[in-house]
Amino acid sequence: MSSDHRYTNGEVTIVWKKELCIHSKRCWRGLPAVFKPGERPWIQPDGADSEAIRTQVAQCPSGALSMASDDAGNMGPA
Ligand code: SF4
Repeated sequence: MSSDHRYTNGEVTIVWKKELCIHSKRCWRGLPAVFKPGERPWIQPDGADSEAIRTQVAQCPSGALSMASDDAGNMGPA
């Protein structure tokens, strides 16, 4: 069973697979304006531009973070 969580800024969508997260804290330290473990939702993609989000997501060591493939805009503006 999958527990994917999705967070969009209307342009890109971050996917977080909770069961894969090893709580390395890398995302919180790298982009604290978006990854806020003390808040709900803990991922707030409006906090940075899409390029910064992509860069940080790519650094997740566990594969818990990824970008959804719907960046082309299936979801439309939020
Ligand atoms: S960088 Fe990846 S593994 Fe580390 S806390 Fe963030 S989501 Fe979890």
